[in-house]
Amino acid sequence: MPLQSMVPMLKKAQTEGYAVGLFNAHSLEGIMAILEAATEQRSPVIVAPFLVPRRAAVALIRELAADLPVPVAIELDHGRDFGAVMECIRAGFTDVMIDASTQPYEENVALTQKVVEAGHAVGVGVEAEIGHVGRGEDYADTDARRATLTRPEDAARFAADTGVDLLAVAIGSAHGLYKGEPELDLERLRQIRAVVDVPLGLHGGSGLSSEDFQAAIAGGICKVNIYTNMALSAVDAMRESLADTRVNYIGAQRAIQEAIKQVVVHCMQVFGSVGGA
Ligand SMILES: [Zn+2]
Repeated sequence: MPLQSMVPMLKKAQTEGYAVGLFNAHSLEGIMAILEAATEQRSPVIVAPFLVPRRAAVALIRELAADLPVPVAIELDHGRDFGAVMECIRAGFTDVMIDASTQPYEENVALTQKVVEAGHAVGVGVEAEIGHVGRGEDYADTDARRATLTRPEDAARFAADTGVDLLAVAIGSAHGLYKGEPELDLERLRQIRAVVDVPLGLHGGSGLSSEDFQAAIAGGICKVNIYTNMALSAVDAMRESLADTRVNYIGAQRAIQEAIKQVVVHCMQVFGSVGGA
């Protein structure tokens, strides 16, 4: 089917109580793996491609998705500035994230408003972040980490001030590999959910347990971003397939694709998006 914005997917997920996965893709194998998993599981899916040129990545995904029975969205993950967002909107991304979460509140609002205005004018959904999801390598610094968690009153004000479609919140997850045990603040999530109507997104999903995900989804998360687990599995598969030969390039590609696909399938099952297409 034609590409579709993540916004209707996430509203459906919110109503029905599951989460849609966003999966980062750095290669053709990554894209193929994600789309195959979505097709097999009859799950909606959001792809965040890092391939350039951007318009070539969109053309590839659009052509592949056209033959599939599931809705596919393409989002820019962590757009840093207005120029990056506009490049992706022009290239045909269905959705964009603007991440000004390290900036002061007023600047985050101003930039997000500008992106919402530009995106909504052409039917592109917009995600922004309030509070800040940090990196797993800094996870041991508990005080610094807790200081950047999303405050419920900020989330409510930010959603109202900006008109975003999806709010990424910091409730204790982190990007990359966690140094220490991840610790989700589910009470904070419940407080945010109580005062915000728009769908809520969780970044830094890799490293969380199935129970963590299910608790977060029950608490109101309806989109989860995944990358690190896919990268770990891809590297393991590549190492294994090249262990006794240097020339098995095609075999390594196939192994990577299959490994990524298995991670995506597992996520879709845990997130409850299977059959949601
Ligand atoms: Zn992220």
